[in-house]
Amino acid sequence: MSKESTGKPMIVEVDIERPEIDKIRIAAGVIRNGGLVAFPTETVYGLGADALNPEAVAKIFRVKNRPADNPVIVHIADKREVYKLTRDVPIKARELMDLFWPGPLTLVLEKSGIVPHITTGGLETVAIRMPDHKVTLAIITESGTPIAAPSANPAGKPSPTTARHVMKDLGCKVDVILDGGPTRVGVESTVLDLTAHTPTILRPGGITAEELRSVLGSVKIHPAGVKIEVTPSPGMKHKHYAPNAAMIVVEGNFDVIVRKVQELADEHRRGGKRVGIMATSESPAYDADVVKITGSRADLKTIARNLFGILRGFDEEKVDIIIVEGVDAKGLGLAIMDRLERAAGHRIVRV
Ligand code: AMP
Ligand code: MG
Repeated sequence: MSKESTGKPMIVEVDIERPEIDKIRIAAGVIRNGGLVAFPTETVYGLGADALNPEAVAKIFRVKNRPADNPVIVHIADKREVYKLTRDVPIKARELMDLFWPGPLTLVLEKSGIVPHITTGGLETVAIRMPDHKVTLAIITESGTPIAAPSANPAGKPSPTTARHVMKDLGCKVDVILDGGPTRVGVESTVLDLTAHTPTILRPGGITAEELRSVLGSVKIHPAGVKIEVTPSPGMKHKHYAPNAAMIVVEGNFDVIVRKVQELADEHRRGGKRVGIMATSESPAYDADVVKITGSRADLKTIARNLFGILRGFDEEKVDIIIVEGVDAKGLGLAIMDRLERAAGHRIVRV
């Protein structure tokens, strides 16, 4: 079963509290044979392959159409694996592993010789994390190898948070899809570079900058952006998370955002466009073709969890443009705004 692949994948529903061992063994068998398995993690659905098998990792890049210089994260189920995959585990890394693993924090460290360059996009560093999901951990353990797993979507598109999203995007190109229901966090892990002089967030995610600062003291946030040509994290420069519809993010104080969102919606509808608005439960009743609520502004976890699914929902409703209420870039808001701004190709209106 290491085709790339033909026909229908095997879709297997799995119990996320007590993963059935026979189902885990099917997935692990595919990984060991160099195939591709899509599975849930606590963040988003991943497209997994044996991280130490260059041919298997090459399939991930082909299936996702991912640029070869964008490295993939290596997932482990046992903290001791870090010592095999890296040259040096600084004390800061050990502290973070103790506090945040398993969980949505990825650490970038100097790679060891066993990690193939295709996995690291040619870099001498490797990104590693231990996911907080029983299904993922069981597959890794049962495979007996670390698993490279970027999000299970074509490069550039919104990440998948359900097995149905994976089926739609990559269906016939994977061997097995494990269906564990919608993912809990909904945005990807925080990527933290520990090889820099000051620990640097390369991608904001499920663990907040504030949480990291409470442990490390000073933490930089890399000024990521599409315009940046030379970046330490290749993923930063590529187009990301984009729905088919055009997108504009409105940022500022909430009352001013609300007025601007309606104004932009009116303007685009007058121009004959089918307009969607991504709103929050505090929003007034907007006038648009499609309005979707991500959650309360006071509950960023819910907004994060719903974000990618709602972006996809606008495409299903065939809107031409999505106008989005920004949130404050604090706590989980930083990861939410990062995804929204990239999805919008940095079309941002500050009011
Ligand atoms: P994904 O696999 O789609 O969740 O994306 C992984 C992210 O981690 C991308 O933004 C990568 O560029 C970044 N990343 C992975 N490995 C490294 C590394 N060795 N150095 C810097 N960034 C990395
Ligand atoms: Mg991704």
